Amino acid sequence: MAASIGSRLAKAAVAAVIDGEQSDLGLTLHDGAHVAIITADSDEGRHVLRHSTAHVMAQAVTQLFPGAKFSIGPAIEDGFYYDFELPDGRTFNEADLESIEARMREIAKADQPFVRAEMSASDALALFADQPYKCEIIERVSSGAADNDDSAEIGRGETITVYRNTPEFVDLCRGPHVPSTGRLGPFKLMKVAGAYWRGNEKAPMLQRIYGTAFENKAALDEHLHRLAEAERRDHRKLAVELDLLSFPHELGAGLAVWHPKGATVRKLMEDYSRDRHANGGYQFVFTPHLANATLFQTSGHLDFYKDGMYPPMEMDNGTYYPKPMNCPMHCLVFRGRQRSYRELPLRLYELGTVYRYERAGTLHGLMRIRGFTQDDSHIFCTEDQAADEIASLLDFVMSVLRAFGFHDFTANLSTKDPAKHVGSDQAWDAATEALRAALEKYGLPYKIKEGDAAFYGPKIDIDVRDAIGRTWQLSTIQYDFNLPERFELEYVGADNARHRPIMLHRALFGSVERFFGVLLEHYAGAFPSWMAPLQARVLPVAAAHEEYAKQVVAHLRSEGLRVDVVDASDQLGKRIRSAKLDKIPYVLVVGDDDVAATTLGVNPRGGEVERGVPLH
Ligand SMILES: [Zn+2]
Ligand SMILES: [Zn+2]
Repeated sequence: MAASIGSRLAKAAVAAVIDGEQSDLGLTLHDGAHVAIITADSDEGRHVLRHSTAHVMAQAVTQLFPGAKFSIGPAIEDGFYYDFELPDGRTFNEADLESIEARMREIAKADQPFVRAEMSASDALALFADQPYKCEIIERVSSGAADNDDSAEIGRGETITVYRNTPEFVDLCRGPHVPSTGRLGPFKLMKVAGAYWRGNEKAPMLQRIYGTAFENKAALDEHLHRLAEAERRDHRKLAVELDLLSFPHELGAGLAVWHPKGATVRKLMEDYSRDRHANGGYQFVFTPHLANATLFQTSGHLDFYKDGMYPPMEMDNGTYYPKPMNCPMHCLVFRGRQRSYRELPLRLYELGTVYRYERAGTLHGLMRIRGFTQDDSHIFCTEDQAADEIASLLDFVMSVLRAFGFHDFTANLSTKDPAKHVGSDQAWDAATEALRAALEKYGLPYKIKEGDAAFYGPKIDIDVRDAIGRTWQLSTIQYDFNLPERFELEYVGADNARHRPIMLHRALFGSVERFFGVLLEHYAGAFPSWMAPLQARVLPVAAAHEEYAKQVVAHLRSEGLRVDVVDASDQLGKRIRSAKLDKIPYVLVVGDDDVAATTLGVNPRGGEVERGVPLH
């Protein structure tokens, strides 16, 4: 006899849990110059291609819109942009993008060379006399005040380099470019967005045209397909369509309310996290949302993290801050009484809600939000325990990520910044080695980010690849040589002497909200059965079957399943379509035969319909 529907759904839940007038080529090389052969399908090749395409876009815009001012046009991940200002506050529209793209194709066809020239700042200022943004860049570079934005455009140094495509069109740039415009690959202009000059909210608002370019049509098409798929899966859109959560404007930017269906998924995620941590030897703590300023003075956050904190509140002659991190409070828990080496490793765990000030322009649904909950752990251990602790920590993290349906991972190991760090070189070396050894032992592919660690310790970041090939940085395992010092954390060792513990920060989801957003996009809203807000919907074929449908619901609910019923007042086909739109994993249809035999028809999401499945 076939397995009952209740046991199938329960099994699905269990399974989920387990588991100078010359082209660049003619350039005279100085002694010691680096020469690299760059092919179009490499990262560097795409960078050169995209940046060259940005020049062509600027040329097209200046031809089509006389008087247009242009500022900077770098290559970015997946494409390029250029910032413009049109006369009389004119803005670009969709049709403009089409005509700019058409003109760019003509320029590509004309196969104009990219001709490099070097000149003095005063000659460059004369050349760009009608381009105030270019003049500003030249002045900053020539006065030695250039910052990274400028030098990306133009390089640092005495002479200014420019590239000429036509007698009329010349641009400030340090290169390199493709040899000529005929060597561009296929490109597409994507959108226009406002962008402040130099990212300064008090500076003029320019118009940024984004484009993308690839080495061949297949690569471009694949990218455009991925973008369309990403748009279809956008968690902000799905959250509304599936009634999961919302961002009411009365609440303020970057703050969400969770509706019952979203809250159900979130609770399942959190319950799963709690179960795994309980089984993994973690101890649960709770800490408040506010703390006196003295705590953040002790932790140092008011020195190095103030910009990321909410403004202070004054009360009782004291100053309080919403907490941006849970770590200082977990240090207080450790310090709450004398600690013995026998208690170590001490693994504290909290679903701790933190508040961080993110600039309004950077907020993005659940991915960048101002109040969020970290699945936050702090582990205190002895130096001798650290390497084993990290190896088992990595196993734990990976096992939980896999249970949520991720299977493709990479990691980054960030190492010491020689210019800015606390802690001894010996401690850093041992820590970095422990992290590296854990990655090797687990067999996780990783890159070393030399000098990229925060000043207080090296770390591992784990990136997951989602269903459409995007990577998301989720989990972090981070050493901290700073907080144990600042909080004077100590334990009594086997030798009866006092020792300072090693402290590890570990976030697994990162934030519950962002992880939920990533999952929502990864699954395109079709959560696996164990985390779906509703696992099944029962549909009686006709009114005569409603009574039996209610019995089916009551039975499945008694087995702990999330099930509802929609009565027969609408046509069956319409109700089935509506259940599919709600992305419910199972639609259970009951008719005459089912009432007679205590069975049901099982219509699984994306699977074949099976009739006559026994209820019990
Ligand atoms: Zn350039
Ligand atoms: Zn922490």
